[in-house]
Amino acid sequence: MRYSAFSLAWNALTGNRNWTPAWRDAAPQDYYDVVIVGGGGHGLATAYYLTKNHGITKVAVLEKSWIGSGNAGRNTTIIRSNYLMPGNIPFYEWSMKLWEGLEQDLNYNTMVSQRGVLNLYHSDVQRDVFARRGNAMRMHGVDAELLDREEVRALVPYLEFEDSRFPIHGGLLQRRGGTARHDAVVWGYARGADRRGVDVVQNCEVTGIQIFAGRVSGVETTRGVIRTNKIALAVAGSSSRVAAMAGLRLPIESHVMQAFVSEGIKPLVDHVITFGAGHFYISQSDKGGLVFGGDIDGYNSYAQRGNLPAIEDVCEGGMAIMPVIGRVRIVRSWGGLVDMSMDGSPIIDRTSVEGLYLNAGWCYGGFKAIPASGAACATLVATGSAPDLIKAFRLSRFATGHLLDERGGGPFPARQ
Ligand SMILES: Cc1cc2nc3c(=O)[nH]c(=O)nc-3n(C[C@H](O)[C@H](O)[C@H](O)COP(=O)(O)OP(=O)(O)OC[C@H]3O[C@@H](n4cnc5c(N)ncnc54)[C@H](O)[C@@H]3O)c2cc1C
Repeated sequence: MRYSAFSLAWNALTGNRNWTPAWRDAAPQDYYDVVIVGGGGHGLATAYYLTKNHGITKVAVLEKSWIGSGNAGRNTTIIRSNYLMPGNIPFYEWSMKLWEGLEQDLNYNTMVSQRGVLNLYHSDVQRDVFARRGNAMRMHGVDAELLDREEVRALVPYLEFEDSRFPIHGGLLQRRGGTARHDAVVWGYARGADRRGVDVVQNCEVTGIQIFAGRVSGVETTRGVIRTNKIALAVAGSSSRVAAMAGLRLPIESHVMQAFVSEGIKPLVDHVITFGAGHFYISQSDKGGLVFGGDIDGYNSYAQRGNLPAIEDVCEGGMAIMPVIGRVRIVRSWGGLVDMSMDGSPIIDRTSVEGLYLNAGWCYGGFKAIPASGAACATLVATGSAPDLIKAFRLSRFATGHLLDERGGGPFPARQ
């Protein structure tokens, strides 16, 4: 069923009894040309672009739980392309452009909202760093505006400018950045892939990877063995565990990261705002809840829940720039399993096992990358060669030393 104003009106007038399921509840078959492990944003987008851009339709996405139960449905929905490194900017800008046309492409309302992403700076040194980043963005054709204090005040007057420990000196604004509804992105890609013939198989955990003569020959799952010659891993925080099934040891650590939603309040925060002197960022959902988060919890874990010290740290950051929200109550919080790489940048590449591809290392920033990552990973899997825009995301960079250290944090996943 194609969604349109006409189908909406027709279904409303007929008692909403004729909507069809957005995707099938597929059962696994014996063989697929490509098996994608992980029904998050990256796995589903890869499947979608495999069918759409390369005509490969004998594809399965295997998800151990329900689709979107991982980070894809747990993130704080920010999309942006305000990066510094030449290996990152063009890729994330490509993703921004795909976001801008995604709803038409998928025929699905993913609620892309380009409300602007504002990074605050609190010192002259930080202003220079942000100016450099803004210039790098503009040199790549990406929109960026360096604002002084009064320009920021005109935009977001409810922030605390002078009377705080970290007075706000200005901000770097990317107006095209913003948010997208994370569940809808998962559902839109699942529906788009399903319509083109992909089997989206839920409650199907991959428990083993079969290898014969150095190349993949199948996957073992809780719903039986499936034969295939190509497997793409898109399991985010479970990457090291699943890759270990093929004997690989990845330069990735899994950490917990939390997100928070407050009770609904009247419209206040109409941008995405990030604190520059600590780790806190915030936006407001269409239902009125403030959606915010901060740093990772800082210890290795495979649990999807976090701890109180991180909550305290996030709330301190929030109070430093926005005491106006001090009495607002938090109603929900949760943790996600982020796949922190050694340089904070992702990996989309082949592996030493023939036919096994890796899409991982997205840290806490992979939601915005979903469209470009899916399209690039699909090209890699379909053609065997990586598009130029992901050449910097090679796995071999950790052996050769060509790291893509966006944050300059060194080889420490917990600091990225
Ligand atoms: C709290 C939080 C806030 C974030 N905020 C942002 C943000 O604002 N902007 C942004 O760009 N990024 C953000 N991120 C990061 C972003 O969510 C992730 O980088 C991205 O979602 C990861 O890719 P994915 O969607 O494919 O992962 P996931 O949704 O985690 O998908 C992986 C899937 O693999 C499945 N799986 C695991 N093992 C197996 C197995 N053995 N067999 C079958 N299936 C398996 C899991 O169940 C899971 O559904 C945030 C992350 C968190 C946790």
